[in-house]
Amino acid sequence: MNKHQQHAAIAAIPFDNSYARELAAHCVPCQPALPPAPRLIKLNSALAEELGLPLAALQGDYGAQVFSGQQLPSAAEPVAQAYAGHQFGGYSPQLGDGRALLLGEIIDIHGQRRDIAFKGSGRTPFSRRGDGKAALAPVLREYLLGEAMHALAIPTTRALAAVTTGETVQRERPLPGAVLTRVAASHLRVGTFEYFANRDDEDALRQLAAYAIRRHDPALQDAANPYLALLDNVCQRQARLIAQWMHGGFIHGVMNTDNMTISGETIDYGPCAFMDAYDPATVFSSIDERGRYAYGNQPAIAQWNLARLAEALLPLLEAESQQQAVAQATEVIHRFVDYYRSHWLAQARRKLGLQTAQDDDQQLADDWLALLHAQQADFTLAWRYLAEVLDGDAGRLQALFADSAPLQSWLSRWQQRLAAEPLPAAERAAAMRAANPLYIARNHLVEEALTAASEHGDLSLFERLLAVLQAPFTEREGLERYTLPAAPEVAAGYRTFCGT
Ligand code: AMP
Ligand code: MG
Repeated sequence: MNKHQQHAAIAAIPFDNSYARELAAHCVPCQPALPPAPRLIKLNSALAEELGLPLAALQGDYGAQVFSGQQLPSAAEPVAQAYAGHQFGGYSPQLGDGRALLLGEIIDIHGQRRDIAFKGSGRTPFSRRGDGKAALAPVLREYLLGEAMHALAIPTTRALAAVTTGETVQRERPLPGAVLTRVAASHLRVGTFEYFANRDDEDALRQLAAYAIRRHDPALQDAANPYLALLDNVCQRQARLIAQWMHGGFIHGVMNTDNMTISGETIDYGPCAFMDAYDPATVFSSIDERGRYAYGNQPAIAQWNLARLAEALLPLLEAESQQQAVAQATEVIHRFVDYYRSHWLAQARRKLGLQTAQDDDQQLADDWLALLHAQQADFTLAWRYLAEVLDGDAGRLQALFADSAPLQSWLSRWQQRLAAEPLPAAERAAAMRAANPLYIARNHLVEEALTAASEHGDLSLFERLLAVLQAPFTEREGLERYTLPAAPEVAAGYRTFCGT
């Protein structure tokens, strides 16, 4: 493809920008800052194909121009979206896209509408005192973690491309700058609703909620109480998502309401991390001093965030009085607990190799986790190696437990339970391996890959780790080091930072 053909192919990318068109009062048109010397360092070809994008035109120098904003498709209409949010429990009335721009939407090859957005593309009317920029390491972190979550089948926004900008951004020290291109089912957040509700702008709130239903829950358009039903659906999606986080050992780290989507996708990979030894009190984020967003708090925080969505939706509920509206919304928020528990248990059964349901399954799963906690066993490996007991080799599992007696007694209960299951052992072991990953984005591996890229311009470790994480359930030879937790003294001091 020559330059002229590339230009024509990019220009013709069929954006269809429902947000800019239907919610013009909810965003501000804004152009990306043009970086001096953009270089394309990563293109997600599989995702580009899923989006139906002209892959050949997105490579190399031309790709760098596209993903830095120098050559936007003609139909892109960049806007900065308004939103508010509760951050660590306190309300911030105006956050918004301070370093991000929604370029528009594309209908993918499956007919799904997807947002295409930049992150790190310069200042917007929402930037406050920020520079609107992003540093390379956090951009690559978001790329890696998003792809890792996707491979684990956990709903997530994903990275389409990463470019370096050729300029430095000033953080605690100068760092190489970068722009991430992010793809999302939408960028509607709990905080988007809070923004308009708290300004008492009921028209804008209603337009937003109607848009959310059209986009994510079209079946609700004729519901009797559509916005109550929307709240219920968001609760169900988030219940499923948080159950997946918990079973993956994933800690988001900054579950502010502006970082919680209406679509049920994971968004904003800032200080997130995967847990090594199982402990519900685990916190990695340097700014989460009181452990508000600790691993074990995530379900309760999700419910708290959804209660903020419920409050924002109150004026739209079909009710005879404010009191009745509150009662309706409260009931839905309470239901979140049941939704969460049932998703959690269904996923726990898969991980335990159970195809059928029995009353004691919850207890069996709880006792397994209590055992991991008591012995500080590695969460991921303990689940993974459980399947090996069915192959007659409990060696790798036993090595994770200092005291083997409690493990043996739990294993015999589990095996008794398995006796009531229809699948042959080998098939069950395979099903368990498909539910329990071997390779997760361990903190020291992520850090090592990002440091090499950011400090030495060496992307090879990033590429290698990405390839490992893209097939997390398939054990491969020569990748042992990717399965191991960091030495306890390294893991103990590990902290993550927010500064994307
Ligand atoms: P986050 O912590 O990524 O969820 O972002 C919280 C808010 O801070 C959002 O409104 C961001 O747009 C804004 N923000 C974060 N970093 C920057 C930056 N470097 N420049 C401008 N705004 C920023
Ligand atoms: Mg955010």
